[in-house]
Amino acid sequence: MNYYGKTDIGKRRENNQDCLGAKTLECGITVLAVCDGMGGVKGGEIASSLALDTFLGACERDLKPYMEDGQIRGVLTAAVHEANTAVFRKGNACEELSGMGTTLVAALILHGLDYMFIVNVGDSRAYSVCGDSITQLSFDHSYVQFLVDKGDITPAEAATHPDRHVITRAVGVADAVRPDIDRIDIERKGDAPYYLLLCSDGLTGMISNDEILKHVNSATSPDDRMDSLIGAANEAGGDDNITVLIAEL
Ligand code: MG
Repeated sequence: MNYYGKTDIGKRRENNQDCLGAKTLECGITVLAVCDGMGGVKGGEIASSLALDTFLGACERDLKPYMEDGQIRGVLTAAVHEANTAVFRKGNACEELSGMGTTLVAALILHGLDYMFIVNVGDSRAYSVCGDSITQLSFDHSYVQFLVDKGDITPAEAATHPDRHVITRAVGVADAVRPDIDRIDIERKGDAPYYLLLCSDGLTGMISNDEILKHVNSATSPDDRMDSLIGAANEAGGDDNITVLIAEL
């Protein structure tokens, strides 16, 4: 399985608090993750990289071949909790890191099977792109999503809402966290390539799902695909750090 990713500082931030990572394990599982940190000058960067490393390390240590779904969910839940504890403890131990936290979106791809697991805390996102369709696979834990669900605002209003960056769940800001863990069927369309995209809100806050679809499909190579997505987000303003991680299934 081919995967590739890139992160970019964007046009307005002074540092990059996003990070990404992926690992193919001996048990025939590939784990991919994106984290978008927040909290102070140093805090966001430390929170995102610590959460990512802890999560990937726990997956590598605890995932075994031929696990049943319930066991996989158990490992993923424990891995998120381990990441949460690591960030929360570090934030509590050092005043300038106090209150730091991070989003975490991850995909667990079981080689040869027609489903995968998506793990999510916060407002980074997972999408599938296949043929002419793009599907958001994760559910934002954000204040504007809460308002959309209540029927108070429309998704279009959410995109420009002044509080659109406020998230309602994060890794590392409290002593416990509740991740979404969803089993997703990989629905292919004929021979069209199937792309799994993980990204931070620096991409989705700047360009629409239709634009993401267009850039993923029209690219001529992996480098071109990453550069055209990041380039489009920067052309639209580059308000935030931009991260994309793509797997071709
Ligand atoms: Mg961000």
